[in-house]
Amino acid sequence: MPSFPDRAHWQALASRLAIPGQAFIGGRYVDAASGARFDCISPVDGRVLGSVADCDEQDVQRAVAAARRAFDGGPWPRMAPAQRKQVLLALAALVERHGDELALLETLDMGKPIRDARRVDIAGAVRCLAWTAEAVDKLYGELAPTGAQELGLVSREPVGVVAAIVPWNFPLLMACWKIAPALAMGNAVVLKPSERSPLSALRLAALAAEAGVPEGVLNVVPGFGVRVGEPLALHMDVDTLAFTGSTATGARLLQYAGRSNLKRVWLECGGKSPHVVFADAPDLDAAARGVAKGIFFNQGEVCTAGARLLVQRAIREDFVRQVVAYGRQMQPRHPLEADAPMGALVDAAHADKVLADIARAEADGARLLLGGRRAEVEAGGSYLQPTVFDQVRPEQALAQEEVFGPVLAVIGFDDEGEAVRLANDSRYGLAAGLWTRDLGRAHRVARQLRAGSVWVNGWDGGDMTAPFGGYKQSGNGRDKSLHAFDKYSEIKATWIQL
Ligand code: NAD
Repeated sequence: MPSFPDRAHWQALASRLAIPGQAFIGGRYVDAASGARFDCISPVDGRVLGSVADCDEQDVQRAVAAARRAFDGGPWPRMAPAQRKQVLLALAALVERHGDELALLETLDMGKPIRDARRVDIAGAVRCLAWTAEAVDKLYGELAPTGAQELGLVSREPVGVVAAIVPWNFPLLMACWKIAPALAMGNAVVLKPSERSPLSALRLAALAAEAGVPEGVLNVVPGFGVRVGEPLALHMDVDTLAFTGSTATGARLLQYAGRSNLKRVWLECGGKSPHVVFADAPDLDAAARGVAKGIFFNQGEVCTAGARLLVQRAIREDFVRQVVAYGRQMQPRHPLEADAPMGALVDAAHADKVLADIARAEADGARLLLGGRRAEVEAGGSYLQPTVFDQVRPEQALAQEEVFGPVLAVIGFDDEGEAVRLANDSRYGLAAGLWTRDLGRAHRVARQLRAGSVWVNGWDGGDMTAPFGGYKQSGNGRDKSLHAFDKYSEIKATWIQL
């Protein structure tokens, strides 16, 4: 892989960076109808990056109306899939061309290391747009197995106006997981980025227009959950809601749908994923590295973070020591450093919340092995040390509640049955990892784990070809792969009497 640019390169780019601050509605950038704005503060150093339109219900009305017009009368839903594919491939190419700029917006806005922003988030967004574009003109309908006197056609149609509400941990990538299949299917979209990380989505809107996405087909409305997300989710003219975020907000969205028009609601919510390490793991050193990466990557702000380490007691002591050693190497640094293992948490309030969870874990009797404090990297920034707790009881908050920060909970087990029971002892079911050299055990345990993704002898595997989503309160429906199209299409049966 080519060498990665150094901090001086990114700082020079940052000094010329334009901060997008307006909503994008009906094909152009506009201020909030109220004229209100909010400050966008960088967690890297606490500085104000710029200000962003503080939208409200009036802007939601404008955006949904623009999307509705585009869907009911515009060219987009009527184009052949192969034509939409060309536009989305052009968008993928533009995102790649502007990859450094988008990565920098991401890092400055939410604190992740620039290397991850460029090589994970932006590369992933490009891949998602291109893969989905390439897939959409290969989707066929069905012909029902009828008698000779009838013809039954089963076809997919776009749903209409899709509202996508996304979080701040992978801002552009999560947006693309939604908008790529939604647009490819011919829907019109209103995207609401998180108030904590709106910048890359606002920039994406202009790139989409440049790529040829027609007016009103992609609208981006920045602002807060209650002022933008809630009216969007209650709107009678929104047909489908696609959400990634916390389980608590997901539950609210289901209520909004019930109180309004029964819009379809697809949820990708939180997790408390178990990392199950058996004594017969093929490479315990690789497993320890995988466990550390699985919890400390992206500052632990990952829905699939391997936040619970379940380790067989026979190897517990040595293995936990190895995990702690790898964790110690992952101290946060300035996120524009090319080799920063961790950056800043998304903002000061979130860092305080994670510190409060750490204090509670100590009060609940868990044993702190590593970290647990702020890390001093840059004045005004919100950095935390990688943190490991041992002797965590399965019922305590640290084992049950999502921290969404760099905090690992270690729990021991004796046998396979206990491992499965502990792994499934959660209201969440997003992902799970297991390490074993026993093929039979790998299949047996994978089958019993109640999680949408199971990784064997690795962590966080999967590309655009594999679906992603949760069991239980981690959500419903799947992003990525051909399954993603199910969220954004209606299935129509046309029965013709011959
Ligand atoms: P959040 O639920 O606070 O916010 C997510 C989005 O919902 C934001 O855009 C926010 O403004 C909006 N929102 C908040 N309140 C709302 C309301 N009342 N009505 C409508 N919209 C509202 O979540 P977050 O803090 O941004 O993100 C972290 C959460 O996201 C974690 O729980 C994490 O596990 C989850 N997540 C899940 C996945 C996944 O694929 N399963 C991926 C990334 C993050």
